[in-house]
Amino acid sequence: MSNSIMDSVFEIGDNLYREMCAAKPSNHAKLFSNITELGRKMTNSDRASFWKWDKVRHQLWTTSATGVDRITIPDDTGLVGKAIREKRIIVTNDPYNDPDFNSSVDKKTGYVTKSILVMPVADINGEFIGAFQIINKLDGDGYDEVVDSRKLSMAALICGIALESETFLEKSYHDKLTKLKNRMGFYSDFSRRFSKTLDEGRNLCLFISDIDKFKKVNDTYGHNAGDDVLAFVANLIEQNCTEKDAVYRWGGEEFIMMMEDTDLNECIEKAEMIRKKIMDSTINADGNDINVTMSFGCRSFDAEKSIEANISVADGYLYTAKESGRNCVISELNN
Ligand code: GH3
Ligand code: MG
Ligand code: MG
Repeated sequence: MSNSIMDSVFEIGDNLYREMCAAKPSNHAKLFSNITELGRKMTNSDRASFWKWDKVRHQLWTTSATGVDRITIPDDTGLVGKAIREKRIIVTNDPYNDPDFNSSVDKKTGYVTKSILVMPVADINGEFIGAFQIINKLDGDGYDEVVDSRKLSMAALICGIALESETFLEKSYHDKLTKLKNRMGFYSDFSRRFSKTLDEGRNLCLFISDIDKFKKVNDTYGHNAGDDVLAFVANLIEQNCTEKDAVYRWGGEEFIMMMEDTDLNECIEKAEMIRKKIMDSTINADGNDINVTMSFGCRSFDAEKSIEANISVADGYLYTAKESGRNCVISELNN
């Protein structure tokens, strides 16, 4: 391998290492773009891309691609789809005469593809989850399956591990039933987003809310109906979020909304608005028409106190709301 390629490899590794050790949150997008570039350099290719297989939507999309914007294609098309389907490396040095080559991107962009190598990657359980693609070898007559896949293997492997980690984190930060972020997602957002809000001295408010007498819903209509009610309420709260807000499923039938650049009065107004909307909704749940109400505790974040201490104060107001007959909003202003 030439010294200049090795220098580039060392530089990418050094950048990534520094990035990961910096005292600030990193993200997978940067990792993908650096490792995709590593794969391009190692194989002396004009372009490189790493593709994620979205099995739910039956799509393949680029997590990172050098030289082009993000591309999304159906998973039963193109050489990337074929490599993942057939679980093998695919090389084409005459793509326009290859029936599996999807030329739509070239047609759209005017790019001329001359050679391609696609290397599918699997997770730790051996399930294929994506693929690394390199395009247009800059020296010689195209790709050699053995020689070039050997050069690409390290970058493909790292992208596979990064993709697995990203997917795992996404899943563990979300609640399956309501599709909202869960408590782990909340703490992750706090360390990335809300701690910065507080550091900058901006207002941060929250409400914690809990469905009233929810056990009775389950007991009367069954657990499936209860699940439908939870999903409805979660969706209604989320529909009332702006980009300054974020909502989380804190526990069973409890939700927290975080509101940046919002003072306590605005927070109370928002909680009141959501409380009324929930009260006025008839929810079709597992074939039943159900009405529920919610209680709320509002709090303006005290940057001097821990997250737990702040939530605990709001939780105290929620408790007062329950004690005062439920279906109401309590804060320090009316406690
Ligand atoms: P309160 O007004 O005091 O909040 O009364 P409550 O009945 O809502 O409170 P409690 O904590 O006694 O009951 C909460 C219930 O929420 C108990 C639990 O079975 C139910 N629950 C928690 N998670 C889920 C879920 O994912 N699906 C369903 N269907 N029920 C759930
Ligand atoms: Mg409840
Ligand atoms: Mg509860």
